[in-house]
Amino acid sequence: MKEIILIKDGELSLKGLNRRQFEDKMVATIRRRLKDLGKVSVERAQSTIYIKPQDDDFDFNEALDRMGRIFGIAAFSRACVCEKNMDDILARAPEYLEDTLRSIKTFKVEAKRADKAFPLKSPEICREVGGAILRAFPHLRVDVHNPDEVITVEVRDYAAYVRAGQIKGAGGLPVGTAGRAQVLISGGIDSPVAAYTMAKRGLVLNAIHFASPPYTSVRAEQKVRDLLGRVARYSGVIKLAIVPFTEIQEEIGKHCPEDYFTLIMRRMMMRIACRVSESDGCLGLITGESLGQVASQTMPAIAATDEVCTMPVLRPLIGMDKEEIIAISKKIDAFDISILPYEDCCTVFTPKHPHTKPKKGQCELAEQNLDIEPLIERAIAGIEYSYIE
Ligand code: ATP
Ligand code: MG
Repeated sequence: MKEIILIKDGELSLKGLNRRQFEDKMVATIRRRLKDLGKVSVERAQSTIYIKPQDDDFDFNEALDRMGRIFGIAAFSRACVCEKNMDDILARAPEYLEDTLRSIKTFKVEAKRADKAFPLKSPEICREVGGAILRAFPHLRVDVHNPDEVITVEVRDYAAYVRAGQIKGAGGLPVGTAGRAQVLISGGIDSPVAAYTMAKRGLVLNAIHFASPPYTSVRAEQKVRDLLGRVARYSGVIKLAIVPFTEIQEEIGKHCPEDYFTLIMRRMMMRIACRVSESDGCLGLITGESLGQVASQTMPAIAATDEVCTMPVLRPLIGMDKEEIIAISKKIDAFDISILPYEDCCTVFTPKHPHTKPKKGQCELAEQNLDIEPLIERAIAGIEYSYIE
């Protein structure tokens, strides 16, 4: 029996004239993600994308797993291809759906008749297919209000498709439709979730990580790579910049008042991230900040870091509770990596009493003995780039 995967896009249907571009990006992503699974054709018609494997040994389960991580897809399903006549549909449906139908008690049939020339109308298709299923599986009952499973028959231009249920997609907008932005990635729980959340709105991701060896270890860096690997399963390839940050932290330690350490460190991160972003074509920064979560995430502290930014800073977690953030972290399989204990540079020089309400201008004053420009230039010159697949 010939099988295909049917893909429905979600918010894309809202995009009017841009729709074509959005679909192009999604189709390109689908093709890329399936490339190593053998020959497949990916076609679109009538707001559905059809994935048609050309080889008999196509790994459907792996393909479906990957489809669940492509943004822009609202729902997808595996379906059986039938000829466009009732005899073929009635012969194939009970056989194709056998495993599903044996494991449930109630069902209903829905028909979608995109080809208006098809001789039977939707209610008639439902009645006939329902009858054939009941004859083949006498233990079943029809329940139109609360069925265990919905069986769908779609009659389209070139074929009819029969499927049971459908799987909810990752939602959002196709990666690449919103431009590129740079996520400041730590080894914590929040920033990978922030990265995932913004990729979901169509951004291609670059990532920047500040490392302070020997205070921070190689394992902390590996943790960041592993976390980005989890995000990349959704976002696609991520270009990672690792910035040597030790000298800057030591200089802050020597020349700035202790209660400003964290704030100044964050301002230095932002300055460097903006510079790197400009040269890499990023239109904004992404951080994992959540209002009030720690001393450097109060409104005045956020204002103090924004002061030195030359591009928009997206903070998708700003209004979320830790619990909500952890739920997403678990969903994308990042949580177990995030809670590994390796030190981050933020924990290296933490002041005992961090400033939570810096006034405008006070940070400049606290930074006045810091030789900012050469420090930034040296850090940028020492960046190591790599790609996370
Ligand atoms: P996270 O869980 O993402 O580490 P956090 O709650 O620990 O966040 P902070 O340590 O204050 O909060 O960091 C706030 C944000 O600053 C992080 O979400 C991240 O975007 C960025 N950040 C922190 N440390 C680093 C780092 N070493 N390299 C790059 N970005 C960082
Ligand atoms: Mg952190």
